[in-house]
Amino acid sequence: APAPQPGRHLFSDPAEVEALRRDLLAWYDRCKRDLPWRALGGVGASAVSPALLPAVWVSEIMLQQTQVATVIDYYTRWMQKWPTLQALAQASLEEVNELWAGLGYYSRGKRLQEAARKVVSELAGRMPRRAEELQKLLPGVGRYTAGAIASISYGQATGVVDGNVIRVLCRLRCIGADSSSPAVIDRLWDMANVLVDRSRPGDFNQALMELGATVCVPKSPLCGECPVKQHCQAWRRKLFGKAPPVPDVEDCGVGDCPLCPPATEPWDSSLGVTNFPRKAAKKPPRVMRTATCVLERRGCHGAPEYLIVQRPSSGLLAGLWEFPSVPLAQDLQEGKEREELADHLQAWMGQPVAAKGLQFIGEVIHIFSHIHQTYVVYSLHLDGDVTLDPALSPSRWVTEDEFHASAVSTAMKKV
Ligand code: SF4
Repeated sequence: APAPQPGRHLFSDPAEVEALRRDLLAWYDRCKRDLPWRALGGVGASAVSPALLPAVWVSEIMLQQTQVATVIDYYTRWMQKWPTLQALAQASLEEVNELWAGLGYYSRGKRLQEAARKVVSELAGRMPRRAEELQKLLPGVGRYTAGAIASISYGQATGVVDGNVIRVLCRLRCIGADSSSPAVIDRLWDMANVLVDRSRPGDFNQALMELGATVCVPKSPLCGECPVKQHCQAWRRKLFGKAPPVPDVEDCGVGDCPLCPPATEPWDSSLGVTNFPRKAAKKPPRVMRTATCVLERRGCHGAPEYLIVQRPSSGLLAGLWEFPSVPLAQDLQEGKEREELADHLQAWMGQPVAAKGLQFIGEVIHIFSHIHQTYVVYSLHLDGDVTLDPALSPSRWVTEDEFHASAVSTAMKKV
């Protein structure tokens, strides 16, 4: 049976919950950032005009793993191009990938569009409005995104938990157990659902996330300016050290509290509030090497053109375009990379490619979330034309401008 949950990690006093909501919302009204998806304020326009694509859906999907400053421009172009569910449903994957190029994690754009298609074709164009239905029915919509859409666009009083909220709640309630563990995440969801303001749920959720993004930041939080510091256990712990009124770790529960820091890693006073949250060490990223070749020819107007080929429609960077590339085995002998690449190009071009004709250009490192990728880059200039094997993946010749306008990843732009 789970250990009893000590009261210091909960919000059990209704008066405190009420005060925290009031303080946080008053701060949000004064200080919130002016972001395009907040332009309408309150419950979203999509609640009034159901054909519209909910702004928060697009922004939240784009904001996963991406900074606000980067997202603003992409968001604006996306909403201009596809303001309605119908318009997005009719877009091609190629158009979606082109607009998404540079944002990373390309499956996000693809699934957003698949979800819009599903709403139009299977749900009679009616967007689900409750978090449970959004999560169940729409591809790419997880618990967090469902809560954000339901509360911000449709006014459902349901909480959200993202990275910012995890940090704020762990600090507010001195939660020092591994914040990525399912047990802690479940408790945080319960807490978010208790805290969410019943009359302004969307604003409250945005306020909590905004606090994490601008005040309760990971490294040097601005506790002095924090609107909820009087409700924050970590801040009080820092101010008062080990003395009351905040009980020490030993006072919490029966010694094996599931939410306290492990006894082997107690409070470190040099870290202050940044003792929270804590995470188990991340797995190191997978190391990969890929040989890639920039094949160049003179185009009909004399300008250089480059061959790009399309990646498979599933997996990493699905459907994006890249220079012909081949993943290399980890234990490949030195000097064999060039031969591997020449063999790969030969299959493409249906004619022999001499390995020594490939000119080594350099190496490009790109970090995907879970992969440390090194591209070993070669180039090859072609004199005559080549006939590409149509049985292989789609391919095309592009000028440099066309390359940049195509659905290519940031990694390939670096190459
Ligand atoms: Fe975060 Fe400091 Fe505010 Fe606590 S007082 S919520 S640690 S910014």
